[in-house]
Amino acid sequence: MIEVKGLTYTYNGQKAISFPDFIINQGEHCLLLGSSGSGKTTLLHLLGGLLRNYQGSVITAEQELSRLSESALDAFRGKQMGFIFQKNHLITALNVEDNLKLAPYLAGANIDEKRIEEVLTRLGIASKRTAKVTEISQGQAQRVAIARAVMHKPAIILADEPTSALDDTSCEQVIQLLMEVAKENKASLIVATHDQRIKNYISKQVILTPQY
Ligand code: ADP
Ligand code: MG
Repeated sequence: MIEVKGLTYTYNGQKAISFPDFIINQGEHCLLLGSSGSGKTTLLHLLGGLLRNYQGSVITAEQELSRLSESALDAFRGKQMGFIFQKNHLITALNVEDNLKLAPYLAGANIDEKRIEEVLTRLGIASKRTAKVTEISQGQAQRVAIARAVMHKPAIILADEPTSALDDTSCEQVIQLLMEVAKENKASLIVATHDQRIKNYISKQVILTPQY
């Protein structure tokens, strides 16, 4: 479960951004909606513990994130969270499978070849396993980003504008796949977007208002 209460965040020298209170139950899917600049990315980064020093409360898996030490937060994030960033952050010098191996490699964890095959197959890109990420389509690259985010079966999947660069067909495939992999792993799925096309897929919505 994720619970946000009285949350505000202030970037250095900027006006505070306030967020509405909300609860997302385990396994629930939710959209964060709002125009550009309303704080969607900031909120995702707060939920994922990438931004600290907030006011108010962010409770994730029964932990108040601000109470965790930096190293405990790193471990928590590595186990529980899967991120799909606004720009897919794939490493262009590495091929598809090596992009999936990077995080466990850096964490000193075992590389699970079977899981790589399973996830790539699930997302329909097994044939691209050794392809360079510069030589696959945008929709395929977005699936690689999803594969990387769900490799370790996280309890929470956070996706930042995962479909905004995609055409209608890829958009629908990517959102369906995200929802399906979340469901298979009983993960909560939180998707930040201003993409109108996604609104029909996920009924629970948290709406951020722009603040001037
Ligand atoms: P969204 O993802 O909805 O477009 P953001 O969370 O990126 O919104 O931004 C919310 C507000 O915070 C905006 O006014 C933006 O200019 C500001 N902001 C975002 N990132 C930073 C940063 N690193 N430093 C200072 N201000 C930032
Ligand atoms: Mg954003």
